[in-house]
Amino acid sequence: MLDWVLPEIDKALCDRCGACVALCPAGAVDMTPQGPVVARPADCTYCTQCEAICPQGAIRCAFEIVWAPEGG
Ligand code: SF4
Ligand code: SF4
Repeated sequence: MLDWVLPEIDKALCDRCGACVALCPAGAVDMTPQGPVVARPADCTYCTQCEAICPQGAIRCAFEIVWAPEGG
């Protein structure tokens, strides 16, 4: 099953600083004229570092696993 979960990059928020390209430990992100893209999705380990380092808050790792509170 080739159903990769990838970080979502909001190109409206992104100012193309290049930090995500430079700092992705897997080298999965490339800069394009339209902005950064996860060009090698198979290499992305979903470490969520790009979400953490983006100064514009433009990257969202939507499927990050969190513990749900009990009850609710
Ligand atoms: S780190 Fe954020 S603002 Fe910078 S290029 Fe990547 S997505 Fe855009
Ligand atoms: S989640 Fe990690 S491996 Fe995937 S693109 Fe972001 S920094 Fe790179």
